[in-house]
Amino acid sequence: MPKKVSSASYGCLVFNDAVMQERLPKPTYKELSRVIHDNVPLDIDVANEVAHAMKEWAVENGATHYTHWFQPLNGITSEKHDAFLTPKSDGTALLTFSGKELVMGEPDASSFPNGGLRATFEARGYTAWDPTSPAFIKDEVLCIPTAFCSFTGEALDKKTPLLRSIVAVGEAAKRLLALFGQEPHMVIPTVGPEQEYFLIKEEDYAARPDLIHCGRTLFGCEPVKGQELEEHYFGAIRPTVNEFMKELDDELWKLGVPAKTKHNEVAPCQHELAPIFEKANVAIDHNLLTMELMKLIASHHGLVCLQHEKPFEYINGSGKHDNWSLAADGENLLDPGDTPEKNLRFLVVLTCVIAAVDRHQDILRAVTASAGNDHRLGGHEAPPAIISIFLGDDLGGIVDAIINDKPFRSHKRETMDLGVPALPDFLKDTTDRNRTSPFAFTGNKFEFRMCGSNQNLSDANKVLDTIVAEMFDECCAALRDVALEGDEHAFKKAAMAWIKQTLTEHQRIIFNGDGYAFEWEAEAERRGLVNCKNTPEAVTRAYENQANVDVFARYGVLSPTEWASRYEVKLEQYAKLINIEANTMVYMARHMYLPALMRYSRDIMRTALNSKELLGEASPAEIALAKTINEGISAIAAATDKLETLNARARKVANMKQRSTMCAEEVIPAMDELRSHVDAMEQICGHEYWPVPSYNKMLYYV
Ligand code: ADP
Ligand code: MG
Repeated sequence: MPKKVSSASYGCLVFNDAVMQERLPKPTYKELSRVIHDNVPLDIDVANEVAHAMKEWAVENGATHYTHWFQPLNGITSEKHDAFLTPKSDGTALLTFSGKELVMGEPDASSFPNGGLRATFEARGYTAWDPTSPAFIKDEVLCIPTAFCSFTGEALDKKTPLLRSIVAVGEAAKRLLALFGQEPHMVIPTVGPEQEYFLIKEEDYAARPDLIHCGRTLFGCEPVKGQELEEHYFGAIRPTVNEFMKELDDELWKLGVPAKTKHNEVAPCQHELAPIFEKANVAIDHNLLTMELMKLIASHHGLVCLQHEKPFEYINGSGKHDNWSLAADGENLLDPGDTPEKNLRFLVVLTCVIAAVDRHQDILRAVTASAGNDHRLGGHEAPPAIISIFLGDDLGGIVDAIINDKPFRSHKRETMDLGVPALPDFLKDTTDRNRTSPFAFTGNKFEFRMCGSNQNLSDANKVLDTIVAEMFDECCAALRDVALEGDEHAFKKAAMAWIKQTLTEHQRIIFNGDGYAFEWEAEAERRGLVNCKNTPEAVTRAYENQANVDVFARYGVLSPTEWASRYEVKLEQYAKLINIEANTMVYMARHMYLPALMRYSRDIMRTALNSKELLGEASPAEIALAKTINEGISAIAAATDKLETLNARARKVANMKQRSTMCAEEVIPAMDELRSHVDAMEQICGHEYWPVPSYNKMLYYV
């Protein structure tokens, strides 16, 4: 009998609009709606009523505790559970939850990364309710999405700047749309994150300290079969994985997460989940929740979910495509549409995005940089580390025609005069086939593909929102006077002139070719595009660029102090991760690989001695193998010592910029060297001697 997924269970664990309407007194509901939709401040009486209704609802649905759910600067979500319990003097207890408890929490901020903010400000932090993202129940806990700030108001989290950037781009978009005579109530960025991940067997995970401590394999020789046959992509989903995916969907739907598409990815054991897009902050909360549930539910099926950007060498890593657009009261501003006025508006918005990405390519690159993602970007499996924009043939042709004053000839249609800016409506249907582009227009949205599977998309989106807001305002400044004159023809002419000039200035960022091609790097350099090879380089370049500091300060997204703290945390996280990886490698080499190889070598030499004794001579194969293993042991021992020394030296460097650069330039090459010696030994070592599961086993478990 098919299992019933009733639409009634969708969102049953969410304190959503329907629940609020049902449970809140009408005036309270109205007032809360204004807080959610119109950014008006929340009144404490309203908060008290909401808190009471929320608690009643949560308790009826099995919750005993509540938590302020927040996103500190290390990117993962944090929670501290408090019971609703209030004991009474007569020995009984009440279940209570006040407006104050709903609105504000006071966790100790001192143990979260803060990038120096704590040195100048108090250690205490507070969490503040984000009423625009609905509360939900997870494992008997009422989770209240919150922002996390210092007591003086500095954002200590990833969500606060995102919320600020959403307001910034929304307001700027409204100013821009006003020139077109449009007055939407609200403009919000929309986001659809596609999450890639790996599933492996729990027993394999448990046997590998590198997976346990670092989330990726630090050793492992090439499997006999990789992804070359490409049979895994969209292949039939294996039963265990299918059971996992079904349970995941069920749980996500209960939480109101619109999980839509699931399939196998290119690499063996790799999968993807894509939800239906939502407003940016909700989509990101939902993505974090999805990541958390993936890990939890995998454990119900004897599996472990790996969300690292590069768990295995030789096969693809995992990304998280950030599909991004803007909706004005639900109308998609990046939809090419088919009416001339809207096409002009579309061209203006498109031009703003192109210019913003070109101008601030360094910070877009930097927010996706991490120790994990460094293994992906530029690795010919994911977008290159250079930012460029893919527009596709049709849109690319239109842009080209505008820049060069040529008539536009579509592939399928007649010549068009761009003086009247009507675009062919088939643009919507043009499917993007260029998988090598980091920033691709895909019909009615942009898809930013550099983000890593393990990242919190707040970072990428706060950047996109802010830099686009800046361009919207520049466009407004250029067109406001002519718009005020009220002559439609003159406005269109001026807008087309602005579009032409801006596209001409920023056309270097548009690249429709193969991003993996070797020649692209040279071409990008000729164009003056940023090409940072690793995290310290990318982060230093972008965070020290005053133009970036200024725009984030001007739009109130990050103050210069908050900006500096993000810079510090980025470098610190990178250096710490590399240090842990190096430690883990040294540990595994000394405690696992060397003893295993010594046992193997001892057995071969015993065999050789036996041969000599019984047969008069050892076989050349025995002697050769014993020699190779012994040389391998020496090489591993030497490389381990070298890595240990370099790592210890790097850890002593107090300056984070220097330390992370040292990690990238000295520690990582030493890690690579050690790995190459160990992997070479894995190729020849007897199977039963090898101390950890091989790629052959882990990637093909059924
Ligand atoms: P593909 O694999 O071709 O990239 P998917 O269907 O896997 O396509 O993912 C597309 C993602 O883009 C989905 O999450 C979808 O909801 C999202 N998306 C579609 N329209 C928009 C939009 N206007 N704004 C943001 N995201 C969008
Ligand atoms: Mg995609």
